[in-house]
Parts: sequence; C-alpha cells; structure tokens
Amino acid sequence: MLLDIVQIGDPVLREKCAEITEITEEIVTLAENMLETMYHANGVGLAAPQIGRALRLAVIDVSHDPHCVSFMTVNGEEVDMVEHMPLVFINPIMKLEGPRAVETEGCLSIRGVRAPVGRPSAVSVSFQQLDGTQIEVETDGLLARAFQHEIDHLDGVLFLDRLSPAAKMAIRKQLKSLE
Ligand SMILES: [Zn+2]
Repeated sequence: MLLDIVQIGDPVLREKCAEITEITEEIVTLAENMLETMYHANGVGLAAPQIGRALRLAVIDVSHDPHCVSFMTVNGEEVDMVEHMPLVFINPIMKLEGPRAVETEGCLSIRGVRAPVGRPSAVSVSFQQLDGTQIEVETDGLLARAFQHEIDHLDGVLFLDRLSPAAKMAIRKQLKSLE
C-alpha cells in the first residue's frame, strides 16, 4: 500500500522518534508499505517520520548502482551490497568514520531541492532487522550517506540543517517557495 509522504513544515519531521520495543505484525506491514512507497517515489531511503510515524524505523535500497559503495560488511564479513538490499533497520546506533565527503542530496519530504552536504564518508551501524536479529553493517559511499540521512530523520534533523552557509544561500529561493 502506498503511504502519503509528509512534506517539510509538518511537525512530525522535527520529532525525536521513539524506540520500537516490539516488532509486531503492524511494524512488519508498515516497513513493507514504506518500501513500496520509497520505490514508487524513486527514492533510495525513507524514514518512518516521513510517513507520519515517529518511530525509529527506516528503509534503504541503493542497489540501482552496484558501484555506489567500495565495500560493505555484515558482522565483519565482506558481502555483496546488491544482495543485501533492501535494508529495513530498527533502533539503529551509528558510528561515523572516515574523512568528510561532499555530495548532492535531496529528500522525498523536501521536493525540488537538492544541495551539497558534507558528511563522514563511512559508517558502522548496528540495528535490528524485521526478524528481530541484530546485525552490524559497515560501509561507505552512497549507502553510508543514506544511513546518515535516514538516521538524522529519526532525530528530527533534515539535510537542510547540515548545509554550509553558501549552500543555504544558493537554495534560498527554492526554500522560500516551499514555505
Ligand atoms: Zn530525507
């Protein structure tokens, strides 16, 4: 089922989302619907607050470009990134690694705005999967960026908050039109 994606200005995008204490059937269905909604919108990630639920749950799929990461490990074992997509992650805990990199980002909740964002280039994220198992993923490239963007959403942070003053200046007209 396709869900409505909430847009900037909705207060749910600024909430600190709640931990999920039990993976119920409702959570499983919600995750499936979030994946369907993300694919339909041609996005690579979607967090629960973006569909109006302030829960620590998000989905990612970057398999459209097999070369968008230089590595991915699951519990320390090197894996094929494409085979591990999509990712559904619950209650993530993230460590930032590597030098900063600047890449252009957009967001399904901020339509029509894209801007360069500097972020650490690699991450280690441990999280619960839908089946309840806990895993740790290390990666870089677009997947590391997507993890950071989606986990920001779980803390009420938008990529606009991370722009340099110059980047913010460059998109001020688009932002005005969204207000
Ligand atoms: Zn976003």
